[in-house]
Amino acid sequence: MKVNEIFKSIQGEGIYIGTPMLFVRLTGCNLRCKWCDTKYAYTEGEEWKPEDLLKKIERESMEWVCITGGEPLIQDETYLLVDALLRKGHKVLIETNGSVDISKLPTEENLVVSLDIKTPSSGMHTFNQFKNLDYLGPNDYVKFVIADETDFEYAVKIINTRDIKTEIVFQPLWGTDMEKLVKMVLDANLNVRVLPQLHKIIWGERRGV
Ligand code: SF4
Repeated sequence: MKVNEIFKSIQGEGIYIGTPMLFVRLTGCNLRCKWCDTKYAYTEGEEWKPEDLLKKIERESMEWVCITGGEPLIQDETYLLVDALLRKGHKVLIETNGSVDISKLPTEENLVVSLDIKTPSSGMHTFNQFKNLDYLGPNDYVKFVIADETDFEYAVKIINTRDIKTEIVFQPLWGTDMEKLVKMVLDANLNVRVLPQLHKIIWGERRGV
């Protein structure tokens, strides 16, 4: 499988924010979001045999492993890796862009799915596969990146018309007005969590953190 980078950090996004994790960023993405901050993962990377990757991960001795991208579910071996990590007793967080069928992922307490719902500012919202919402469990969460009022209204419409049983995260696009987003959430009485990208607050827009 093709791997872009492997690094230790704390989770910077979503409801497990601040948790130390080993990040395995896989190469390749089927989308091209206008504000993508990991363009370097579209093609760059090295081929790994899944068994060698597993050994490398094991040497790092981290409880949590975050499999991200790019879009990690476009590589078939990702499912083998997830299964192997769960069997080894790891907690696994998989970050997926919402445009790929997630139904083949196992339903396990130690597997957390972070499912994006792409907003209009990404230019990719027509690729959202809403059927994926049916496969989420109580530990999973849905994430909207909000850049402006149009994104906010789109997210509210999705929340009001779809059956979302998990926690919902509104993540302000990096560089936008977080206070304004918080006010919009409070004014609309929304039961969502507004969470910034913690790693960018700490390290800025650096790679590998
Ligand atoms: S889904 Fe993620 S990796 Fe792919 S283009 Fe969008 S932001 Fe970038």
